[in-house]
Amino acid sequence: MSNHYEQQGFTLWFTGLSGAGKTTVATALEKELRARGLKVERLDGDTVRKSLTRDLGFSKEDRDKNIERVTFVAKLLSRNGVAVLAAFISPYRATRAMVRAETTNFIEVYVHAPLEVCAQRDVKGLYAKAFAGEIPDFTGVSDPYEEPENPEIVLHTHLETVEESVAKCLTYLEEHGFIPVAETAR
Ligand code: ADP
Repeated sequence: MSNHYEQQGFTLWFTGLSGAGKTTVATALEKELRARGLKVERLDGDTVRKSLTRDLGFSKEDRDKNIERVTFVAKLLSRNGVAVLAAFISPYRATRAMVRAETTNFIEVYVHAPLEVCAQRDVKGLYAKAFAGEIPDFTGVSDPYEEPENPEIVLHTHLETVEESVAKCLTYLEEHGFIPVAETAR
């Protein structure tokens, strides 16, 4: 047996309201996984919607197309040993079930904070506009969000620090053998 470590692919899928903390946690986790020498790709709604899916809007049909294209990318990467960190509101349960079926080692992370907290954070200034009625299809305000029923990981970002949320993900990945257990006392 060689002692070369063969990395396992997986798809860590962050779903939740805008401002819940998907990008923040995924970015911090990406940094940590890279520091551990792992191959990682982060796919993020904000950047993907400026490139791969820039032609799409926020109707149910377009949201589904957005996730379908991203799923294709996540599928190719995760089956080839890459750690995929995907951060998308992805409000529909059935669509997330499709991602689960299509990708390798799908792990659903429900990034949760109450709507009031997300609105108060208003990272992108969008909640103010949504509550003013200026955005007709804003998730959680004027468009649905279907909560995950059986997510592998739940993050309560109004109660946890970013470091705690990241640690929860790392622990899950280590305990399930998706990444090597880090040496302690670093
Ligand atoms: P999303 O990607 O879900 O739209 P962002 O990551 O852009 O959300 O914004 C989340 C905001 O919440 C950031 O300002 C972040 O600093 C803050 N925050 C506070 N606690 C946490 C936590 N435990 N995890 C993630 N974000 C947190």
